[in-house]
Amino acid sequence: MQPATETSFDSYVRLIKVLMPNLQGVAVHNRVPMRIWASADWDVADQDAIAEDAIAQARADSSDYPAVMYTLDSGRAVYAFAVRGERIALLGVVTIAVTLSGIRLEARPLEYVRKLVQPALECLRRELSLRSELGSRERDLGVRERDFALMFDISSNSAPGAGDADEFDRILKTAMEHTGCALAALWVPDKKISKCATRSGQPMVPGVLKLAEQHLLAWIQLQQRTITINRIANVTTQDAAPYKILACPVRHRSERVMGVLALFNPPSAADFDAHKALIAELLAKRATGVIQAHYDPGTGLMTRQALEHQAQILLACGGDLDAHSILYLDIDRLHVINETFGMHVGDDVIASVAEVLSQSLPSDALCARISGDRLAALMPNTNLAAASAHAERIRSTAAAITPRAGQGSFDVSVSIGIAPLANSDNPLAHALATAEIACKAAKDRGRNRIETFQDSDQSIIRRHTDVLVIGKLRSALGDDSFRLDAQPILPLRGNCGRPRFELLLRMLGDRGEIIPPGKFLSAADRYQLMPTIDRWVVRRACALLGERGAALGDDTLRFAINLSGQSLQDESFSDFVHAQIEGNRTPPRLLCFELTETAAIGNLKKAQAFIERLQKIGCQFALDDFGTGVSSLAYLKDLAVNYLKIDGSFVRDAIDNSRSESMIKAIAQLAKIMCMETIAEYVETDALRARMADLGVDYGQGFAMGKAQRFEDLLQELAIFEATVSPTTAAGSPAVAARR
Ligand code: C2E
Ligand code: CA
Ligand code: CA
Repeated sequence: MQPATETSFDSYVRLIKVLMPNLQGVAVHNRVPMRIWASADWDVADQDAIAEDAIAQARADSSDYPAVMYTLDSGRAVYAFAVRGERIALLGVVTIAVTLSGIRLEARPLEYVRKLVQPALECLRRELSLRSELGSRERDLGVRERDFALMFDISSNSAPGAGDADEFDRILKTAMEHTGCALAALWVPDKKISKCATRSGQPMVPGVLKLAEQHLLAWIQLQQRTITINRIANVTTQDAAPYKILACPVRHRSERVMGVLALFNPPSAADFDAHKALIAELLAKRATGVIQAHYDPGTGLMTRQALEHQAQILLACGGDLDAHSILYLDIDRLHVINETFGMHVGDDVIASVAEVLSQSLPSDALCARISGDRLAALMPNTNLAAASAHAERIRSTAAAITPRAGQGSFDVSVSIGIAPLANSDNPLAHALATAEIACKAAKDRGRNRIETFQDSDQSIIRRHTDVLVIGKLRSALGDDSFRLDAQPILPLRGNCGRPRFELLLRMLGDRGEIIPPGKFLSAADRYQLMPTIDRWVVRRACALLGERGAALGDDTLRFAINLSGQSLQDESFSDFVHAQIEGNRTPPRLLCFELTETAAIGNLKKAQAFIERLQKIGCQFALDDFGTGVSSLAYLKDLAVNYLKIDGSFVRDAIDNSRSESMIKAIAQLAKIMCMETIAEYVETDALRARMADLGVDYGQGFAMGKAQRFEDLLQELAIFEATVSPTTAAGSPAVAARR
């Protein structure tokens, strides 16, 4: 086995095992190559030859971990990684063997495995380099154990989340705990990261800190490596800091140095040694990881998630919410640039606008890329007027962006919406939504302009109401906060059979209050939620009628369901209705569907197919709001509906408007010729009721015949209902009491 003086690499094996569960064993060779360590069950026969191959590979390949891979007969694969130290000197070879079994009979590609085990290789690299620096001198075991705890922590958190305490603060705190330094700072100017923590909790003098920041950043840019200063010359000048300093570069993915993690100690403290440097480097890497996860690589701005996280921290500090403003920016017509000049040109434009955004705002502004070409900034302690001034500067600077040479010729402009933060469950999301609405208004009003969210702006209000309503609607759809009411439709002349009903949807508010469809359907329509709503209604109606279908008797009694144009467009909707009818054993003869004239004519072919399919199984159809569309009569022959529902606007003024009166008469006659029946809506008074009967209309619906009541209640009490609207009463005065 390995020489007794060498301590175990077991901790690394544990780490690799976490990364690669099918790990079988690990061997470590020095640069000779001679094996210096192997895990307990290591038995790879050609290990030295493999290590030599890895070293040969390293001569040809200057990357960090040049590697070779072999599949062994024994159902295993080995991966050997040459490990380099600073200045590309070879330190040794780490060989890992994995078992290929079960679902994984083929070896993973080398590159894949390299990425997978890289965190462990990084640790091993440090270890091997320390060993070569320190010779065979044994290091304190306790310190090593702590290192591993830290390394484990770092590698197991390799996907930094934005959820917990500020990651950068955690990095600084870890640095102080693990190196014993008095002060830790992280400066990444690109990302507007400037953080500092002291062991004592006492803040540092800002001026001194600023100086240190400038010096160290310049220095680290020059040196591109970790710098340790333990001996301080007799300090006479004002700008030389009387501290021991350990500074590590924070690198971009491209290896470019973008910042520095700096640790400080007073002259009396112990020196910063190689071990502390290792910890600091690991933490600087961690900072890079956090930055990568929190910043959009295309623009360098924060991700939306990171913005939310930072905003949370900011808002947790208290103070007036409306002291802060949010700015929402959308690049005008970027799709045209993308389509004409290519996505790469579009990406460049986004990056340039992002730069304009971050350069134009004060350093405490939090700038983020929300998605695609939408950017946003949270401006702390900036009122709407000041925010507008910033926005104007951004707008005019962005308008001056010119395409790079060779990219073609186009203009760049942006539309910006501004809104204040306001009290709500989630102030940032709410403000982003309002600022987005203002931005949309800016687009509507001609683009390349700024709009501020104002409570009095009608178009903004409508959109804002939509946003609020849609939120409520989505949650109502999620937790079934709807109910169906049923309003009677009664024969107007003599006894033409049993009553009919129209099912009308109501949304239930937070406190159980009833919200009528007029309050949410137009927003649902704009946000394409109608198909979901219609499906809810069909599902509920079919379920209730399926349960009670048998008890409802055989002769006609119909329940009308309103459908939207959006559902007619949806190819799968007719299958859905079918499945609901079958699944719930709903007698199809109980169902009637109301389509508005506009929806049916707008989707004529689909409407025809839908009507035909459901009529075949016994459902009926009504054309709703009839008479309001311009070309109603012309299209009537193409739509095989059973009923025409004469729009309430004609019915209402049929008594004193002779035009309306003759219109109703004409519709009633036309319907007869086409073998359709007519229903008058909004029959609000007895006089109207009598009038409609005179004009030849078959059915009436309206407050004079009865208001809507809960559908479930109606089904329960249908027998009583029918008794109260017996033919004699139906022809006479209204007998159906309104019920809520
Ligand atoms: P609609 O289909 O024309 O429904 C008739 C509307 O007139 C109902 O309003 C009803 O309560 C109201 N109404 C009935 N009789 C009278 C009356 O005598 N006087 C007056 N002033 N109004 C009367 P509601 O329930 O608010 O529904 C409004 C609209 O919302 C409906 O107009 C329909 O287009 C839509 N809607 C309602 N429920 C649904 C549904 O389940 N699905 C879909 N897609 N749309 C629905
Ligand atoms: Ca209707
Ligand atoms: Ca109607």
